[in-house]
Amino acid sequence: MDNKSLTIAIDGPASSGKSTVAKRIAADLGLIYVDTGAMYRTLTFEALKNNVNIKDQKALVDLLEKTEITFEPDEKGQSVFSNGVDVTYGIRDNNVTNTVSVVAAHPKVRQLMVKRQQDMAQDNGVVMDGRDIGTVVLPDADLKIFLVASVKERAERRHKENKEKGIFSDLDQLKKDIAERDYKDSTRDSSPLKQAEDAVRIDTTKMTIDEVVDTIKNLIKKA
Ligand code: C5P
Repeated sequence: MDNKSLTIAIDGPASSGKSTVAKRIAADLGLIYVDTGAMYRTLTFEALKNNVNIKDQKALVDLLEKTEITFEPDEKGQSVFSNGVDVTYGIRDNNVTNTVSVVAAHPKVRQLMVKRQQDMAQDNGVVMDGRDIGTVVLPDADLKIFLVASVKERAERRHKENKEKGIFSDLDQLKKDIAERDYKDSTRDSSPLKQAEDAVRIDTTKMTIDEVVDTIKNLIKKA
């Protein structure tokens, strides 16, 4: 198969390593990387900034219609822009992380996001990561991956990343936050986090990033 037209869906729970792995594979294969979590985070960031009630679906849809979300590859991997303003760091803020699941649970918000995501994959090969890519956004993807890791391992990875960035974080609190986000994302009515039937499940708890990337590249060769 021609790599340039490949569509690869990578789903999994919070902090399972999806974006690190997806970015590496996209760069190695020359594909576009679409971080759909960043899109829900950008809408959440704008809602908090503009005092829009995150429980008000209609207000969020109005806000999303006025918000152009774009990605630009750069030396850090990728930057995220909201109406041309760089929000790459702002969307990782704890306030955003702890409220994004409420925003992402609204069916009409999801409908609009899914449409934008499908448009991005229309004429391009993509590596797209999220929660519903293999099940809803790209049901015909050439390869579907479902990444999992224990809550303990995911919290420890996030804790280490925070330390390296000089951000204070409490390991026990991280474990609670990750477990809570998993619960909200998996139990919502509208396209919950779920493994697609034809996805390959990879448990990364005891794997390095390089091992996960190599495993997926081997699967791509067979796709
Ligand atoms: O991947 P990330 O952790 O940045 O995603 C942030 C949040 O966005 C998730 O916890 C989930 O609530 C939401 N999300 C989603 N569907 C996607 C991607 C992310 O509901 N495809």
